[in-house]
Amino acid sequence: MKTLKDLGNVSGKRVLVRADFNVPLDGTTITDDGRIRAALPTINALREAGAKVIVMAHLGRPKGQVVPELSLAPVAARLGELLGAPVTLAADTYGEDAQAKVAAMADGDVVLLENVRFNPEETSKDAEERAAYAKKIAALGDAFVSDGFGVVHRAQGSNYDVATDLPAAAGLLVEKEVTALSKTNDPERPLTVVLGGSKVSDKLGVISNLLNKADRLVIGGGMVFTFLKALGYEVGKSLLEEDQVATVQGYLEKAKENGVEIVLPTDILAADSFAADTAYEAVPADAIPADKIGLDIGPDSQKLFHDKIVDSKTVVWNGPMGVFEFPNFAGGTRAVAQGLIDATAENGAFSIVGGGDSASAVRNLGFDESKFSHISTGGGASLEFLEGKTLPGLSVLD
Ligand code: AMP
Repeated sequence: MKTLKDLGNVSGKRVLVRADFNVPLDGTTITDDGRIRAALPTINALREAGAKVIVMAHLGRPKGQVVPELSLAPVAARLGELLGAPVTLAADTYGEDAQAKVAAMADGDVVLLENVRFNPEETSKDAEERAAYAKKIAALGDAFVSDGFGVVHRAQGSNYDVATDLPAAAGLLVEKEVTALSKTNDPERPLTVVLGGSKVSDKLGVISNLLNKADRLVIGGGMVFTFLKALGYEVGKSLLEEDQVATVQGYLEKAKENGVEIVLPTDILAADSFAADTAYEAVPADAIPADKIGLDIGPDSQKLFHDKIVDSKTVVWNGPMGVFEFPNFAGGTRAVAQGLIDATAENGAFSIVGGGDSASAVRNLGFDESKFSHISTGGGASLEFLEGKTLPGLSVLD
């Protein structure tokens, strides 16, 4: 994979950077700026090298239309604050305004192009249409840097096609992500993978691949109920993917054959309803009452999961253990996060938080990010990396 140094001297050059600024918003307030912070090293390195830095990113799912609420204006403002330098927002991605703002740049300046997903071609399945669009973007720059790790598992105009039009390299964030996640390919063992989140169907590929790779799989979150059902337990009103029960039974058998330890919760917080203030109690995992809904793992499972995680040399975690958005049901997620921290502190383990909801849970629950070995910025991308898939946004940089 080509990296920044392969671009040579970028002084005076216009360098297009694809970043991942898909931050959570409450109105126009950014509630977690982790992804913007993660892009700073590359932007700063290019500015210090005298480049004109033209940043591209998407926000939300505008589906090819201009949606004013999904403008990158709040991101431009926050990026400017974090850089301590003005960031000019272009009103479009490659049109007249973008061209005029880029033409007016001095060395070291930063322009942010408006949400690339306002253009229907960005995510078009028609490769020719996407390529023609990418050429218009490429005309704004002399080189391309791919630093939006959250999108490297997709072949889209601003991260894939553009890379075929210009000298292209991975930015510092993509390089750091690939280096960290590659540690799971030849891991120090035991390798424990903790999976949660809502649906097992989103994680079938990764589970299947991990059954050949991990020493231990720890399962929580909404997806755990499909596992409990596969063991023959009733799960009440909890999240269940009935059509995946047979697949999960197959996984349990394969785990046994391969000697992979599957760790499931022994108790569950069973609630009256899906609400922050609902009444709840801890019940054994094989005795969830028919009228209750499981919203988190229980206290015994918190301890079990924590101890299994600490007893590892490499740990990867993707997906919350419960409905952590409700404080009463954040305990499982908290215990897992603490497990990763303790595994690193006490056991020298390499701990990876795999993006998306888990990364924002870590920050929102008040954990110190520096205590983890690596917090990925890409949920889907890090999962596909763990699945062993070829990621188009990375292979295009080879
Ligand atoms: P995902 O998008 O697959 O990573 O799932 C994240 C979501 O799973 C979070 O919003 C959690 O609230 C949700 N979740 C975790 N545990 C449960 C559960 N037991 N029941 C319903 N949703 C859950």
